[in-house]
Amino acid sequence: MTFEDLELIAPIQRALKEENYVSPTPIQVQAIPELLKGRDILASAQTGTGKTAAFAIPILQQLVEEYESKQGARQIRALILTPTRELAIQIGESLDAYGRHTRIRNTVIFGGVNQNKQTDALRRGVDILVATPGRLLDLMNQGFIRLSSIDYFVLDEADRMLDMGFIHDIRKVLAKLPEKRQSLFFSATMPDTIVSLSRNILTNPIKVAV
Ligand code: AMP
Repeated sequence: MTFEDLELIAPIQRALKEENYVSPTPIQVQAIPELLKGRDILASAQTGTGKTAAFAIPILQQLVEEYESKQGARQIRALILTPTRELAIQIGESLDAYGRHTRIRNTVIFGGVNQNKQTDALRRGVDILVATPGRLLDLMNQGFIRLSSIDYFVLDEADRMLDMGFIHDIRKVLAKLPEKRQSLFFSATMPDTIVSLSRNILTNPIKVAV
């Protein structure tokens, strides 16, 4: 199996070649074709499996394909929630890498630093927002972010989010998301609490475990 078999658009194929990615990892093989069809996913995958590319590539590709038909002011189309600043930064770097030959823009927001650079980036307009829950809610409450245009939602490292006490924040974010969206749920482990949270988020998901 090669990335060519996954029917990726040329600008993404080119970026993956530049990253020296030769063949997709098992989670990428299983997830990417279904995600490109618009399916929700419940994925049990650890860091190191290539899960970031498994969600980032289909979101970038769908946004590129929709770009022509959705001109006008740039709105936040995809939200990726992740528990820590380090993970958020890594995801932002992956999106930069895989999307480098596209016009899709992302920004990363997290707590513990001054918010001005983050709000400046939001004002300039982004397609994909990578966020930790606390800073996201903070900037939503201040009116810098609206989630009404979100079509793609990723919950990354869901088990770690719950361990860190983010469940109430996650619920507040969920309440602001449009019902009609594609949702991607990633967790290293799948205890009952995670499975029941996933039921509130996902519609008829494909299930992948690697
Ligand atoms: P992740 O599980 O998303 O944290 O990714 C783990 C590492 O694998 C990252 O450094 C990625 O750049 C790398 N990676 C992801 N997919 C591939 C691939 N298909 N081929 C080679 N490296 C990859």
